[in-house]
Amino acid sequence: MNIINTNLSFSPLSTRKSTTRIILHHAAASTCGAVVIHRWHKQRGWSGIGYHFVVRKNGTIERGRPENKTGAHASGHNYDSIGVCFEGNFETEAMYPAQLRAGQELLAYLKKRYKIQKIQCHREVGSTSCPGRNFPFTQMAGASAPSSPSHTVVPAPPDKLAVDGCWGRKTTLRLQNIFGTPADGIVSNQHLCYKSQNPGLDSGWDWKDKPAGASPLIKAIQKKVGASPDGHIGPQTIKAIQKWQNSTPDGTFSVPSPCIKKIQKWCNNQ
Ligand SMILES: [Zn+2]
Repeated sequence: MNIINTNLSFSPLSTRKSTTRIILHHAAASTCGAVVIHRWHKQRGWSGIGYHFVVRKNGTIERGRPENKTGAHASGHNYDSIGVCFEGNFETEAMYPAQLRAGQELLAYLKKRYKIQKIQCHREVGSTSCPGRNFPFTQMAGASAPSSPSHTVVPAPPDKLAVDGCWGRKTTLRLQNIFGTPADGIVSNQHLCYKSQNPGLDSGWDWKDKPAGASPLIKAIQKKVGASPDGHIGPQTIKAIQKWQNSTPDGTFSVPSPCIKKIQKWCNNQ
């Protein structure tokens, strides 16, 4: 388990006198990390992020409020609890394995560290639906962390992409990491009819005759470049990406694709 220190700055905080339980939350937002939540909570006039930890969809754990300080996450219940927030909106989304596993590991670590057993959902202590109806509480809180890595562990995205103009698994992983979508290196549920005209889209593209769903990554990219966010790549989306890059909008990804090279360079500058 790897906890990332975010080094956020807070207004004065009080030290928590006891720790008897962990309270679980969702962000009620599809994409956000500790830095963004910190900004939201400061805008509410709080000292800074109210949660002690944020578990990202890709399985990364980020520190929020210092662990020994009183949180601001469950009114009337902050004095003896640690607040853990999960990126996503689990009223509507389902949790992916990487995030579930990271949450299990974090909870196992905190239970051991504070010698406590009690884990609650926010809705048990306040009038809220948080952490959402699809939140896998039993799996999350009931399981002790597996001792050996399971097959759901997500590979770390490469630091620097080769600018080769071919969009394969590494480019996808890096983009998933940047956009905070589930990181598995696969662009899921794409229309097979667009495969042959886009040879620059390499391994890890999941082409189907009639895809039943959409790709969260493509949706996020479409939002970024101002295309309609249906989660499927096609000429419209590719043109929007090319316009966003000031490239000639021909609506296809050749091989090697200058447009994909620009995407890879953009990734390397994030
Ligand atoms: Zn909550």
